[in-house]
Amino acid sequence: MKNSNWKERGDAVFAGTYSRFPAAMVRGQGCRLWDADGKEYLDFLAGIAVCSLGHCHPAVTEAVCSQAKKLMHVSNLFYTEPQTQLAELLTAHSFADRVFMANSGAEANEAAIKLARIHSGKGRYEIISLSGSFHGRTLATVAATGQPKFHQGFEPMPIGFVHADFGDPDELEKFINPTTCAILCEPLQGESGVRPLEPEYLQQIRSLCDKHNLLLIFDEVQTGMGRTGTLFAYEQLGVTPDIMTLAKALGNGLPIGAMLTRSDIASSFTVGTHASTFGGNPVAAAAGVAVMETMLAKGFFANIQEKSSYFIKQLEGVAAQFPHLCSGVRGSGMLLALVLTEKGIEHGAEIVQQLFERGCLINFAGMRVLRFIPPLTVTQEDIDQLIGELSAVLHEVG
Ligand SMILES: *Cc1c(COP(=O)(O)O)cnc(C)c1O
Repeated sequence: MKNSNWKERGDAVFAGTYSRFPAAMVRGQGCRLWDADGKEYLDFLAGIAVCSLGHCHPAVTEAVCSQAKKLMHVSNLFYTEPQTQLAELLTAHSFADRVFMANSGAEANEAAIKLARIHSGKGRYEIISLSGSFHGRTLATVAATGQPKFHQGFEPMPIGFVHADFGDPDELEKFINPTTCAILCEPLQGESGVRPLEPEYLQQIRSLCDKHNLLLIFDEVQTGMGRTGTLFAYEQLGVTPDIMTLAKALGNGLPIGAMLTRSDIASSFTVGTHASTFGGNPVAAAAGVAVMETMLAKGFFANIQEKSSYFIKQLEGVAAQFPHLCSGVRGSGMLLALVLTEKGIEHGAEIVQQLFERGCLINFAGMRVLRFIPPLTVTQEDIDQLIGELSAVLHEVG
């Protein structure tokens, strides 16, 4: 079976929610993928910031296989070894001391939203998020998402969500009213175009939460698990949230999400208030344990910061070479973007397509930047290869 056969069969049976590259991926290793036609790709998408240790990392594969032979599922009516170990690792290495396990980013955020409401008490339910944010596709998380295009056709949106303009703490404070219970934000907006929130702005948001007795929820679904060069992005920002959500890279490809918080807040979730059949499933949690252990090994992050600086320098070189298409570089760690000019934006989709044809995978995030989210294990040679192909494509685009 070739790519074209899989495309034809898939298009005949799937709901039309995705625009897919015309390739059926069959194998992955490290930063490389291979499709059904045998073509090799250099992967700077990593399953959308999921396969942060690279495809089929041996420690994760081993943990998943051995757990799958022992025990795959029992529900949360029982304790399991991997779920407990993962929660211990997450709490030992974050501000949090309580964890609720889910299966995805949206579900982790749903848990955070429900916890913020029940903890804040009767009449306090409204959550302020930011314009340009992305928090998931369930009805509540899409309502929290500050991008109207994701609401269209699904109205009415659930009530209790308002969006403040990005970057303006004074405007944000005007939204606070007696029904407000929390402020929800990503430390760096990934989906809408790799837009970092300045540490000073995040500190102002923290102060507003303290002043008005609101919970601060960080959606670290994309920024967490090493993506920005530390285990969690908040560590670099001088701001500690009250609740943090994780998913994407937590299982390096196995579906798992988590909501982390302090015990004084978590205590508002009592027996029966929230649940998930699969959340923290033993196989997914075993993957999470292997991811945590690999990332916590000595030297893991030092290496990433170095490679990140190198990558940024190379991207800045590209931006300088094509100033009519690129206006700069932003992001941190291995969550980086080449910001496009108006003319560059017109060619964004075409640039991604041409790179795909040359065997390099990136994406056009928020329809305004070229986003680079390779496995954290990417090498300098991989970066050089990507930069070479990118320059060639930008040259062709003109
Ligand atoms: C991807 C993402 C989500 C949604 O995660 P799913 O696993 O697709 O539900 C939520 N928040 C942020 C910041 C994300 O990047």
